Amino acid sequence: MLAQRTALVTGAASGIGRAIALAYARAGARVVVSDLDTAGGAQTVALVRETGGDAIFVAADVASPEANQALVARAVEHYGALHVACNNAGIGGDLAPTADYPVEAWQKVIAVNLSGVFYGMRAQIPALLAAGGGAIVNVASILGAVGFANAPAYTAAKHGVLGLTKAAALEYGAQGVRVNAVGPAFIHTPMIERLEQDPATNAALVAMHPIGRLGRPEEVAELVLWLSSPAASFVTGSYYPVDGGFLAR
Ligand code: NAP
Repeated sequence: MLAQRTALVTGAASGIGRAIALAYARAGARVVVSDLDTAGGAQTVALVRETGGDAIFVAADVASPEANQALVARAVEHYGALHVACNNAGIGGDLAPTADYPVEAWQKVIAVNLSGVFYGMRAQIPALLAAGGGAIVNVASILGAVGFANAPAYTAAKHGVLGLTKAAALEYGAQGVRVNAVGPAFIHTPMIERLEQDPATNAALVAMHPIGRLGRPEEVAELVLWLSSPAASFVTGSYYPVDGGFLAR
């Protein structure tokens, strides 16, 4: 599916990003694993290599425009070209109602979850064009489509990711670059471990998903892989929930 292709994943030291890196490798791609967390990133690379895949780790903070440029430059330098990028790195941020939301917490969530995707695409698109085309998948959330009380920054950032996705898809579609977003509901990863530990909160979370459980990172990775592959050649500018029915209510 992605043989002879190079794919980059941010936030790939953990959770959904690690599952995406493994899915890309299984599909034959050379994988650039990126994250702030170097130990987790090295583990992801080791997991890819255990399956016979080819991967390197490049540390980068997605909230830095320069780090995104350096990340793409390193990918192209090492593998010769970049064909696929998944902007997955993200943080949950504080939980508080809008009027009480700390300004610093707002700025941090927007810097990583929204500006990080913009800086990422800004660096990735020229490399994808130079490679003759490619695909970008941005990891948004169900909270890119609906609101969630006490998460104003996260909700705003993820809605913004959908806007960025559509704008870039319009700009670069004719040049062979497809851009899509995915919207996971609650997925078992370190990001939501704290919520899952409280039985009442966990039961409330499960109840939000008509399928009767939370999702697994691999279930998100399957959708990302498809959108990243030539199988999705007529798909661009869209948002795909992977949510156990969360948004059907
Ligand atoms: P995760 O397990 O916490 O993994 C996120 C990874 O991103 C971590 O390794 C984290 O490193 C890294 N990261 C954080 N800030 C970064 C930065 N500035 N630059 C580079 N890397 C950074 O979370 P996850 O659940 O897999 O989330 C992945 C994506 O899915 C996020 O965009 C999230 O918003 C989205 N999502 C998750 C869920 C869910 O329920 N889990 C639902 C919908 C959407 P550190 O550990 O060092 O911070």
